[in-house]
Amino acid sequence: MWLDIPRPDYPPLSGSVTCDLLVVGAGYTGLWTALHAAERHPDRRIVLIDAHRVGWAASGRNGGFVDASLTHGLENGKSRWPNEIDELNTMGLANLDGMQSDIERLGLDVEWQRTGMLTVATEPHQVQWLRDAAADGEGQFLDQAAVQSEVHSPTYRAGLFSPDTCAIVHPAKLAFELARACTQAGVRIAEHTNARSLDTAGAAVRVATTEAVVTTRKVVLATNVFPSLLRRNRLYTVPVYDYVLATEPLGDTQLDRVGWRGRQGIGDCANQFHYYRLTMDNRIVWGGYDAVYHFGRKVDPAYEDRPATYRRLAAHFFLTFPQLSDVRFDYRWAGAIDTNTRFCAHWGLACEGRVAYVNGYTGLGVGASRFAADVCLDLLDGDDTPRTRLEMVRKRPLPFPPEPLASIGIQATRWSLDRADHAAGRRNLVLRTLDAVGLGFDS
Ligand SMILES: Cc1cc2nc3c(=O)[nH]c(=O)nc-3n(C[C@H](O)[C@H](O)[C@H](O)COP(=O)(O)OP(=O)(O)OC[C@H]3O[C@@H](n4cnc5c(N)ncnc54)[C@H](O)[C@@H]3O)c2cc1C
Repeated sequence: MWLDIPRPDYPPLSGSVTCDLLVVGAGYTGLWTALHAAERHPDRRIVLIDAHRVGWAASGRNGGFVDASLTHGLENGKSRWPNEIDELNTMGLANLDGMQSDIERLGLDVEWQRTGMLTVATEPHQVQWLRDAAADGEGQFLDQAAVQSEVHSPTYRAGLFSPDTCAIVHPAKLAFELARACTQAGVRIAEHTNARSLDTAGAAVRVATTEAVVTTRKVVLATNVFPSLLRRNRLYTVPVYDYVLATEPLGDTQLDRVGWRGRQGIGDCANQFHYYRLTMDNRIVWGGYDAVYHFGRKVDPAYEDRPATYRRLAAHFFLTFPQLSDVRFDYRWAGAIDTNTRFCAHWGLACEGRVAYVNGYTGLGVGASRFAADVCLDLLDGDDTPRTRLEMVRKRPLPFPPEPLASIGIQATRWSLDRADHAAGRRNLVLRTLDAVGLGFDS
């Protein structure tokens, strides 16, 4: 749905190409990296390549929630970096504001709507969680009547509204418009240009692509869930598939039955949660719940076809909005999420500081990718900045074990999270053990 709009082609690279900075991967991370690099150093030759097309992967198929959190939610950040969580929150909000001002300054048509985030409790035990979150300053607590007056669903027991920390956006337009801004800033973009290998050659780095050899001073690897060109990085992330439905556009009377005049982004607070939002033409985009890992860590388009998951998503939609039983779904799709063991981005340098990389957004990268891009540029420039001083930036997560252990561990965690959702949130021994060793996942 998102990607089916007009956009320019960017011809592949061929022959031998020389540049100052090569960015591999033209999703949000690569696009922000190239754009901000061009703005920092207008004199440098910057090339941005993608194996397929600009924004075709996660960046063109996500839910479009632009969250301020850099740590995959406050709880995850607080438990891992208690001493810098306040700074991380401040930086996250500054990043969201910075993204909004970049979009305005560059005139990017991305359907940006800063409508805030409504988190809903659909189980009794979740109501107290939202009260506690409100007491912690995360937003305004809404009791059952108040949340239902915003959005009408018989499943809602309470809500938490955070007006400032989330925007919604058209994901593919964000990618395409960033590409346009990159070109205007002098970046050369090449699609259908797969980087196959990377090695150092004296003071330079040489990257062999489908039809070209690029010699460059520096490289940023923005390849997300795809196999890293640095082999030793491959154990740090696994692909987890996320599934989405989109309805037909709702008519005025259908919309009246749901309310939702504030057009907030909505998510429930289960471990296996749903996220949903309106598009500009009033479709409901409805995703989440099943997060599926397949044995062997592969990214494979065949995994996108999972009828049982789409049926489950549809059933949950009609439980949430029974008053929309006459609404049909027009689209369904899936994408791979780049998951690491700490559930938010990690960074690093390789090849004597000439190659920077970032991975591991774990499904919350639309906003965080802009921050991550700035970190990559700081690292490559050797700058000592508040960003590079963060423990979160300096420390790497634990890698996943090889198969079959990865698969056994991930399936046991998923099963336990589902159990916790149906047992008043109580975490079993598996989850408590993972929490204790710093691998715990809390939606
Ligand atoms: C279904 C779904 C819903 C999501 N919803 C949300 C949401 O609502 N909010 C949120 O914050 N996050 C969400 N996410 C996550 C978010 O989309 C990602 O974190 C973000 O898009 C990552 O951007 P990226 O640029 O790092 O990666 P990608 O968009 O995956 O881009 C990586 C690019 O690298 C290219 N590449 C890889 N290897 C090579 C190579 N060797 N040579 C050349 N090119 C290469 C690929 O072709 C690809 O285009 C969702 C993800 C999915 C799948």
